[in-house]
Amino acid sequence: MHSQKKARFYVKGLQFECTKCGKCCTGFPGFVYLSESDILSITKYLKENIGRFLIKYTKNVSLFHENRYSLIEKPNYDCVFWDSLCTIYPARPYQCRTYPFWKKHVVSEREWEKAGKFCPGINRGIVHSKDLIENFVQNIPGYAIRKFSSDFKKD
Ligand code: SF4
Ligand code: SF4
Repeated sequence: MHSQKKARFYVKGLQFECTKCGKCCTGFPGFVYLSESDILSITKYLKENIGRFLIKYTKNVSLFHENRYSLIEKPNYDCVFWDSLCTIYPARPYQCRTYPFWKKHVVSEREWEKAGKFCPGINRGIVHSKDLIENFVQNIPGYAIRKFSSDFKKD
């Protein structure tokens, strides 16, 4: 049995530079799950009370029997925080900060190229190292689940 890990296709890193086209933030329904630390950062950035933030900007969605918070969308399915650009960019959620280096996109070269058909920033510009990509994939924060809401609402 080989003890060495299988070499990743991105051992030399992957190129990505956001063109700010907004495609991933607009125009179709999706989920932007929030971790506890996302909620804390965004509310700090917006100077918003946590309970009010959760009511105004999030919905509860069920995933693998967990009730998570996800950002709501506008009627045209743009993210609630999209206004020609991300209006909470410095405090944007982990899911947004780590795109497109999500496990499902870096699992194989084929999946990465497939993601590149959607996102024009893929395979362009800055090279992101293997370590950074692995760090993104491996250190996904625990997503905030509904049971935290009563604590948040005391704020
Ligand atoms: S689709 Fe890609 S290039 Fe366009 S805003 Fe999203 S991350 Fe940036
Ligand atoms: S929070 Fe910002 S980066 Fe994330 S989907 Fe919304 S507009 Fe896009």
